[in-house]
Amino acid sequence: MGILTLLHQITHAMRQRSIASLISSLNTKEQAYCPYSKFRVGAAVLAIYSTVFLTGCNVENTSYPLGLCAEMTAISKAVSEGYISFKAIAIASDLEDCFISPCGACRQFMREFGSQWDVYMSKSDGSYKLMTVEELLPCSFGPDDLRKGKNPVGNSKL
Ligand SMILES: [Zn+2]
Repeated sequence: MGILTLLHQITHAMRQRSIASLISSLNTKEQAYCPYSKFRVGAAVLAIYSTVFLTGCNVENTSYPLGLCAEMTAISKAVSEGYISFKAIAIASDLEDCFISPCGACRQFMREFGSQWDVYMSKSDGSYKLMTVEELLPCSFGPDDLRKGKNPVGNSKL
């Protein structure tokens, strides 16, 4: 076996172990605060160069629009801990027959931190569907686009 093949196999094994840990950390849905929807969601995000999984759950509010999704909670927690480059996020719910999919707002929230990272959408049995942020939000608007469109004059009516 060549050294490159061996390295590839080790990297693959590490990656699979990380994914397993990511999915298994999804008992975070147990913490969900969802007295209104009763729809529990948990998320765990894995930063690049890190083995730490930062988790989140949905947090609803009496004033419904103020509620937070699990994905946003997990990503915000990671950012507050100093991480802004991510390898993967995993999402879990109590859905048995379909994979939990991030809402449109969460897709844009993920996109802020890049489009080439992995999103594991799981079922309650632990099986998952893998897509990238780019696949979930094609032709997206991100930080680079905002820099391109700047007008040095600012408000052109002044
Ligand atoms: Zn969402």
